[in-house]
Amino acid sequence: MEFLDYYKILGVDRNAAEKEIKSAYRRLARKWHPDLHPADRKAEAEEKFKQINEAYEVLRDPEKRAKYDRLGSRWKEGAGFDYGYRPAGEEVHFSGEGDPGGFSEFFRQFFGGGAFGGGMGGFGGTRARSAVRGEDAESEIELSVEEAYRGASKSLRVTDSAVCGACAGAGIRDRSFCPQCGGTGSITRQKTLEVKIPPGVQDSSRIRLKEQGGEGLGGAPRGDLYLRVRLRPHPRFQVKGADIETDVVILPEQAVLGGKVTVPTLDGEVNLKVPPGSRSGTRLRLRGKGFPLKSGGRGDQYARVVIDIPPDLSAAQKELYRRLEELGRGGG
Ligand SMILES: [Zn+2]
Repeated sequence: MEFLDYYKILGVDRNAAEKEIKSAYRRLARKWHPDLHPADRKAEAEEKFKQINEAYEVLRDPEKRAKYDRLGSRWKEGAGFDYGYRPAGEEVHFSGEGDPGGFSEFFRQFFGGGAFGGGMGGFGGTRARSAVRGEDAESEIELSVEEAYRGASKSLRVTDSAVCGACAGAGIRDRSFCPQCGGTGSITRQKTLEVKIPPGVQDSSRIRLKEQGGEGLGGAPRGDLYLRVRLRPHPRFQVKGADIETDVVILPEQAVLGGKVTVPTLDGEVNLKVPPGSRSGTRLRLRGKGFPLKSGGRGDQYARVVIDIPPDLSAAQKELYRRLEELGRGGG
């Protein structure tokens, strides 16, 4: 009997995370779904599909996967399968022999009896799944800072692919390429989605649109569509996570003596007290003026101090600066 490398079958690494395994399975199960292959290639597709399902059956379950990994290392050492593991009298009989949804001899040897400790709970319930959920899709949505902050309703054009109805996804009809889909087995179409953006979405966050992804097979639901949020740069507000930064321009005397300024926020202008001795680049916090947080609180806004001088100083002002300069040199 041949050792079946389930990792190789799914094309994943030996330490692949559950998520990777799941997405590899979904991708391959769609690729090799027997419904999507013409008659002359159905047998090959069925065989592949069966293997993919079997590999997933084992690797998706942490317990079975751990047992399989242990077996794999024993196998490499040349020990093979230790038949002594199988308790006497626990012969397992399989229904569904020769069923295309059935499992390999390898699988049945090890999961049926000793090595994997049985516990499969009957093989009838673990046939290859012929219904495969559609693939998840990802797209981007660009929002202004205000839309992200307040929430919005947006129309979004997305490209969607569906199994070609004319050839049932085979790509071939009447012994030639299907004219409907050009032999690809799927047709793409544009659709418009109305998307409700909840208030407070941040840059790079994802919005899930349930069952707006790829089409499912065998009556299974569509995958989901994930929209990755991109915030358009704003002339006044820089968004950093849930915090907002903005520049506030003050005069040299306000920097020295302190003073009151108005600062724009996403909820309108607010007054801000600049403390005496504020240097350029000082960040003054406006608590709770940032984006709403999932935890229920809010981010903050930071006003960055920028010291500027008026474009035209009067003669009297210039005279005072001259006086200041003299004082700075230790004159009097
Ligand atoms: Zn077609």
